[in-house]
Amino acid sequence: MNKNIQISPLFDDDNPRVQPRVDTATIFEKSVPGRRGFSLAAESPDTDEAVKTAIPSQALRANAPALPEVSEFSVVRHFTHLSMRTLGVDTVFYPLGSCTMKYNPKINEDVASLPGFVQTHPEQPESTIQGILQAYHDLAHALGELTGLPGVSLQPAAGAHGEFTALLVLKAYFEQRGESHRNKVIIPDTAHGTNPASAIRCGLEPVEMKSDSRGRVSLEALKEKLGPDTACVMITNPNTLGLFEDRIGEVAKIIHGAGALLYMDGANFNAILGRVRPGDFGADLMHINLHKTFSVPHGGGGPGSGPICVRDFLAPFLPSPHVVHEDGQYSLKTDLPHSIGKVRAFLGNVNNVIRSYAYVTQLGGDGLRQVGDHAVLNANYLLALLAGRYDIPFGRRCMHEFVINASKQKSQGVKATDIAKKLLDYGFHPPTTYFPLIVPEALMIEPTETENREMLDLFAAAMIEIARLAATDATEVTAAPQTTPVSRMDELAAARQPVVAWPD
Ligand SMILES: *Cc1c(COP(=O)(O)O)cnc(C)c1O
Repeated sequence: MNKNIQISPLFDDDNPRVQPRVDTATIFEKSVPGRRGFSLAAESPDTDEAVKTAIPSQALRANAPALPEVSEFSVVRHFTHLSMRTLGVDTVFYPLGSCTMKYNPKINEDVASLPGFVQTHPEQPESTIQGILQAYHDLAHALGELTGLPGVSLQPAAGAHGEFTALLVLKAYFEQRGESHRNKVIIPDTAHGTNPASAIRCGLEPVEMKSDSRGRVSLEALKEKLGPDTACVMITNPNTLGLFEDRIGEVAKIIHGAGALLYMDGANFNAILGRVRPGDFGADLMHINLHKTFSVPHGGGGPGSGPICVRDFLAPFLPSPHVVHEDGQYSLKTDLPHSIGKVRAFLGNVNNVIRSYAYVTQLGGDGLRQVGDHAVLNANYLLALLAGRYDIPFGRRCMHEFVINASKQKSQGVKATDIAKKLLDYGFHPPTTYFPLIVPEALMIEPTETENREMLDLFAAAMIEIARLAATDATEVTAAPQTTPVSRMDELAAARQPVVAWPD
C-alpha cells in the first residue's frame, strides 16, 4: 500500500470504541437539482388528463413539492448512516426494564413477509383470506390457553390501546348489569403510566394505591380504597419492580368480594409464560403486548399489537368482528349485539399477528415455558452479579427484571442518568431510568430470555466498573458519553421542542 496516501480510518485504532465516521449532512443538504433515484414512464397527455379528472381539483398541487433531489445510492447511504447512529436490539444488549426489548427471531419476519400475507388487500373476500383468518383463530386460542382467559380480541394496536379496549369492555359489562356507577380504577403506585391514562380516556377515575414495604400490593391499602364505586383494580404481575404478587389469590378474592374486577396488565408476559395463567389467579381481563412477548419488533412508535383476553362473561362485549370457525370455514362474525364495536380498522395489524402465530406455533408449549424460565434465570443471574456493588431493594430474588437504587452512587457524585450514559461508552443500551417512581435513582434492568451468559457477564463487568469509577473518579462517569455521535443532549428540549421537519 502506498504509505503516502492518507486514508481516513473508519475506526480509530487507539480507541476502538470510537464510532464509525458518519456523514452528518441531511438529505436536503445533499440535494442537487436534476439528480434522480427513480425513472418513471414518460407522462402522456392521456394519463395526465385521467389523473386530473380522478383527483378532486382542490387536492391537486399547484407546484411540485420541495423534495430532495438525490440518487438512490445517496439515499441508501443516508439512511444506513442514520441507522448506525442509534443503538438497537439487533446491534447491542438492550436491558430496558418494563419494555422487554428482546431479540425477535428472523424466521418470524420471513413468515410475515410471505407474498400471500403482504399482498393481501384489506377488502378481500373472506374466502380468499382463509390462511390469515386461521392464524387469527389459532393465535387467539393459544393466547386464551396461555392466559386462562378464553375470550380474545386481536384488534388493539398497542398495549395502551389494549388497556383502553379492555376497559371499554368492562364498562359495557357493568352498564349491562345496571352498575355504571362503578367508575373508579384502583392502580398501584408502581404501575406503568398508561394504566391511569387509559382509565381517564375511558371516562373512569384512577385512584392511586401505595405499595407495601415489600414492594407489593398492600392488602390494607386495597381494602381501604375498594368501595361500591370500584370498577376494577389494575395489577401488573410480576409488577414493575420485577416482583411476583405472592398474595395475588387473596388480592383477587378481596377485589371480587367488593363486586369489582381484577385487571391484569400483561404487557411483559414473558416472566410467567407457560408457568402461570392469570385466569387461574383471579384475573378477569388483561392485555398482552405482542411487541414485547411474542416476537414483534418493538420501538420507534409501532406498529404494535395489544390483544386482550377476558373471561367468558365478558366475551360478548369484545370488539367486532370475531373470527369464527364453522363447517371447515373461517369467517368474520359481525352479528354481535353486545360488542363495543370496532377499535381498529379492518383486522388490526395483521403482520404482527402472523409473526406471533409463527413464534407460538414454532416454540410450542415447552418452548414457551422455557421463554419464561430463561427470562427469570437471566434476570436473577445479573441481579446476583450486581448485588454486592449496587443497592437492590426488595430482596435477592426477582422475576424477569429488577430495580437498582443508585442513591449510594449519587452521594459519590454519579446519578442514575450518569450510569446510563456511561453504559453507552461501553456499547450497551442503558436500562430504564427513574422508573418505577417509588425507587429513588432507579435503574430498571431486564436482560430478557434471549441473551447468553457471556453477554450478561460483559454487562455486569461494565456496571461493576462504573460502580468502581463512581467511588474513585466520578468525573469519568459524569463526562460520558464520549464515544457516541452526539454527547449529552438537552433532553428536555428534545422532548418538548423536537425539530422533526426540514426545513424548520
Ligand atoms: C409497555 C407497557 C405498557 C404499554 O404498552 P404500549 O404498547 O407501549 O402502549 C403497559 N404496561 C406495561 C407494564 C408496559 O410495560
